[in-house]
Amino acid sequence: MTENAKPAGAPARKSIADMRPATRLVHGGTMRSQFGEMSEALFLTQGFAYESMEQAEGRFTGESPGFQYSRFGNPTVAMFEQRMALLEGAQAARATATGMAAVTASMMGQLSAGDHVVAAKALFGSCRFIVEDLLPRYGVASTLVDGTDLDQWRAAARPNTRTFLLESPTNPQLEIIDVAAVADIAHAAGATLVVDNVFATPLLQQPLQLGADCVVYSATKHVDGQGRVLGGCILASNEFIDKHIHNFLRQTGPSMSPFNAWVMLKSLETLPLRVNQQMRSAERVADFLAERTGAIARVLYPWRTDHPQHALARKQMTGGGTVVVFDVRGGKEAAFRFGNALEVVKLSNNLGDAKSIVTHPATTTHQRIPRAAREEMGIGEGMLRLSIGLEDIDDLLEDLKAACDAV
Ligand SMILES: *Cc1c(COP(=O)(O)O)cnc(C)c1O
Repeated sequence: MTENAKPAGAPARKSIADMRPATRLVHGGTMRSQFGEMSEALFLTQGFAYESMEQAEGRFTGESPGFQYSRFGNPTVAMFEQRMALLEGAQAARATATGMAAVTASMMGQLSAGDHVVAAKALFGSCRFIVEDLLPRYGVASTLVDGTDLDQWRAAARPNTRTFLLESPTNPQLEIIDVAAVADIAHAAGATLVVDNVFATPLLQQPLQLGADCVVYSATKHVDGQGRVLGGCILASNEFIDKHIHNFLRQTGPSMSPFNAWVMLKSLETLPLRVNQQMRSAERVADFLAERTGAIARVLYPWRTDHPQHALARKQMTGGGTVVVFDVRGGKEAAFRFGNALEVVKLSNNLGDAKSIVTHPATTTHQRIPRAAREEMGIGEGMLRLSIGLEDIDDLLEDLKAACDAV
C-alpha cells in the first residue's frame, strides 16, 4: 500500500496536512493498493494472512508493521481515521461502531473506581445515562452542572476529578459552553476535557485548538450525512490515545465496520459542501420562523443576535450550524400539530442528514429524563428540533409555513 499516487521516490511538494480542509477531505489518508485504484478500496475482511510464522509473531509484538485483525485495525478504517485526524488537526483518531461507543470509550478508558467526573447537564440523553447511571455503578462519582456557569464547573472539581465532559452547542437547546474557559478550569483541577462536537461538526469548531484534550463524534450525523450507517470517532493527541483509548478499544471491541468506514470516507469528500449549504438554509429558516410570532414563541439559532450566547458562539465557532430549535405556542399538542402538518420535512431523530428532520425531544430523545429535569434543562413540551437538509430552501419554507398555519 502506498500513500501517494506518485511514482515511488518522487517527493511531495507539500504535505496534505498543510493543505486546506476541503483538500484534506478529498485526499487525506488515502492509501492505494498495488492496483492504484482511484476510489478508496473497501477491505471487507476480518483479518490478514501472514507470509510466515515469523511475520505473524512480528505483527503481534509490533515489530513488523501491518494489519492483523479488523478489531485492531483495518486499511479502510485506517483511511477514515487518518482523514478525520487531518480534518480535526488531531495527532490521532480511532473509529468506533457508533457515537455512543466513542463517548463510552472516552469515559471508561480514562476512569477507574474512586474517580469523579464533572459534566454539563445539557447532554444528549444517552450521554447523560453514561454519566448519571452507568459510571456510578462502577464506582465513579459524577456531578452535573449548568455548563454555561463557569463557577459551577470550578465548584464541582474535587481532588479525584479525572475528566470533564461537555457538548456545545448542546442537544437540543443549542446552549453554547465556553470550551476554552472550561478547558482551563479542568486543567487547573488536574482533569482532562472531553468535548462531544457533533452539533458544531469538525468544520465549525475545533475543540482541540480551544484547549480540549479529546473530541468525540457521532459520525452517524453530518459525517455520513445521508442517513445510511452508524459510526463514531475519538480524536486526541498520540499520548491521550495511547494512554486511555487504544487498548480499551482493542480489547473491548466496539470497532467500526470496514463497510461503514468506506461509506464515511466517501462522505467526508462532500462534508464542506453539504454543511455549508445546510447552514445557509438553516439561517434562512431561523429568520423565517422568528417572524411567525403567532405560532412560534421563540427561535434558537447560535448565529442570530437574539441567541442568549450569540457573542460566545461567534467567538468559538465559524458558523451557526445546521440545526434550528424553536418553541411552538401551545405546548405538546401544538408541537404535534406542527410536526404532523409537515410533508417535506420528515419526522425522525437523526440530524445532519440530507433530508430535513424534525424531532420532539420531550417525547423522543429526552423522554427518559423526568419532566422537571427536562424543564430545568430548558426542554419544554412545545420545543422542536429541526435539522436542515439539502432540499430547495423554497420548498422547505413552504412546508414550514403550512405547519405554522396548522398551529
Ligand atoms: C447522536 C449523538 C450521539 C450518539 O451517536 P450515535 O451514533 O447515535 O451512537 C452522541 N452525542 C450527540 C450530541 C449526538 O447528537
